[in-house]
Amino acid sequence: MKKYSLLLGIWVFLLGSSVAQKKFSKDTLHASSGDVIVTFIGHASLLLEWGERKIYIDPSSRQADLYQFPKADMIFVTHHHNDHCDKSALKALTKEHTKTFMSAIAHEKWNQGMVLSPEQQLSIDGVGISVFPAYNLVHKNEEGVPYHIEGQCNSYMLTLGDLRLFIAGDTENTPEMKALKNIDAAFLPMKLPYTMTPEMVVDAAKAFKPKVLYPYHYDKKMLPQLKALMQKVPEVELRVYKN
Ligand code: ZN
Ligand code: ZN
Repeated sequence: MKKYSLLLGIWVFLLGSSVAQKKFSKDTLHASSGDVIVTFIGHASLLLEWGERKIYIDPSSRQADLYQFPKADMIFVTHHHNDHCDKSALKALTKEHTKTFMSAIAHEKWNQGMVLSPEQQLSIDGVGISVFPAYNLVHKNEEGVPYHIEGQCNSYMLTLGDLRLFIAGDTENTPEMKALKNIDAAFLPMKLPYTMTPEMVVDAAKAFKPKVLYPYHYDKKMLPQLKALMQKVPEVELRVYKN
């Protein structure tokens, strides 16, 4: 009887752990105005925690059970593609006062929140928001149309106290990105054919010199090349987390 209850106990434990959240990589960006804790939920999904504020970028329910996450104060959606703009993820994270921001085409899908377009700048609830265009220069579909057309997709530069964070949407190393200044941390995508090669990421990093570079939305086969190329850019600290 004793043996039976022990086995039952193990089974319940295993059942419990199978529905538990997987472990997510986290990193902290330090600032006297308040640290920002970054959680890499997976693919392009990020959670930024700044004091009490919970800010999500492109949350996707393919990456996690977002009902297990804290509700959002702000959600930024870069563009309309399904891996970035996910209705069920938005539903899971939205509470009464959640502010949602998205590109115009993404807004057509969700029909909630505020449309943001490149070149807009605003400040809401103490968060500075600057919108940059995200688009392909080189990578195009069979009809010759860029996977991301200039003006349709956003990157966001968020100012959280003293920290200036650049979160790129699906984009390449555009002139607008390369002209950025005083960026503390940049999140850049590295996956083909929709975003950047390691060379493009390094070209951008050399140009705008973020203090910290996080590859995200990346193809892990490209990491060795990125690491090798970034050795020649010692002024930028490369931080690689599981995505
Ligand atoms: Zn996309
Ligand atoms: Zn994407």
